[in-house]
Amino acid sequence: MKPAAFQYHAPDTLEEALDLLAEHGSDAKPLAGGQSLIPAMNFRLATPSALVDLNRVAGLGEVADGGSRLMIGAMVRHRALERSEEVERAAPLVSAAMPFVAHAAIRTRGTIGGSLAHADPAAELPAVMLALDAAFTLASREGRRTVPANDFFAGLFATALEPGELLVGIEIPHGRVRSASAFDELSRRHGDFALAGAAAYVALDEQGICNHLRVGLLSLADRPVLAARAERLLVGTKPTSESIRAAADASAREDIDPTSDIHASSRYRRRLAAVLIRRVLERAFHSLENA
Ligand SMILES: Cc1cc2nc3c(=O)[nH]c(=O)nc-3n(C[C@H](O)[C@H](O)[C@H](O)COP(=O)(O)OP(=O)(O)OC[C@H]3O[C@@H](n4cnc5c(N)ncnc54)[C@H](O)[C@@H]3O)c2cc1C
Repeated sequence: MKPAAFQYHAPDTLEEALDLLAEHGSDAKPLAGGQSLIPAMNFRLATPSALVDLNRVAGLGEVADGGSRLMIGAMVRHRALERSEEVERAAPLVSAAMPFVAHAAIRTRGTIGGSLAHADPAAELPAVMLALDAAFTLASREGRRTVPANDFFAGLFATALEPGELLVGIEIPHGRVRSASAFDELSRRHGDFALAGAAAYVALDEQGICNHLRVGLLSLADRPVLAARAERLLVGTKPTSESIRAAADASAREDIDPTSDIHASSRYRRRLAAVLIRRVLERAFHSLENA
């Protein structure tokens, strides 16, 4: 099918883009990589009256390391994230997750801002952002506000973005000593959306006690969620294979709400969650032991 008729705007500056969004209200949609929006328009699942193309807007495509914070512009392409040495150094969990996102052709166009704003519960980047305690900068004609990743995802394809607001940047804190991360997921074919996935970021103190732990989970609820139970069980302890397994099982029982669909049953996804949470935690802690 072809999309319903729409106006097309291609502003050069953020101010122009925000003015256009304010003018058209909830009928307008920003266009980033178009990898989710254009298929949705072709299927008439989305029928915006106006598209505000962000591809020419200056200042949204940079990655910069501010020392303790990695700043990523909303229009940074998946492929650029995947290949960035700065990202690899400051947030290796992002680099580890990128090859699991779709296929190279889609990653060449798709953007981090598009992926986060789209808020597909099966997408990798939202779960990674939860694990890394990222914060998102949202801009509108009225000004800017910062929303922690944990408050941004509001449900199935739903976020804290208000009409007229754009996600303009992502900030990822980094620099914890003795920290490590790991990502894993299971999909039927490489590049397909995952049946379930887990992104872990952990840190140990000098005595080997876990002083930080976050595991972001995808495809296991109507939005990306944290394995909060595992965090409560493991922080303040010296993790062992047994305690990691028990924490992963507890999170798979309590922290998720997986659905059944033609790809997998809810029961299967819950079992998969326990395995994936255990696997990413073991890999992350193991890499610290060997560091
Ligand atoms: C075959 C296929 C397989 C895929 N597999 C995966 C996968 O395995 N994992 C995965 O994570 N993704 C997957 N995707 C989606 C892909 O990663 C998209 O790139 C991503 O979801 C959307 O990014 P985009 O830049 O293309 O956004 P667009 O499609 O341009 O926009 C998506 C939505 O976000 C809004 N938006 C975009 N940018 C902003 C912004 N800065 N501020 C506010 N709102 C904004 C748009 O209005 C739209 O509603 C797949 C896509 C395809 C076609």
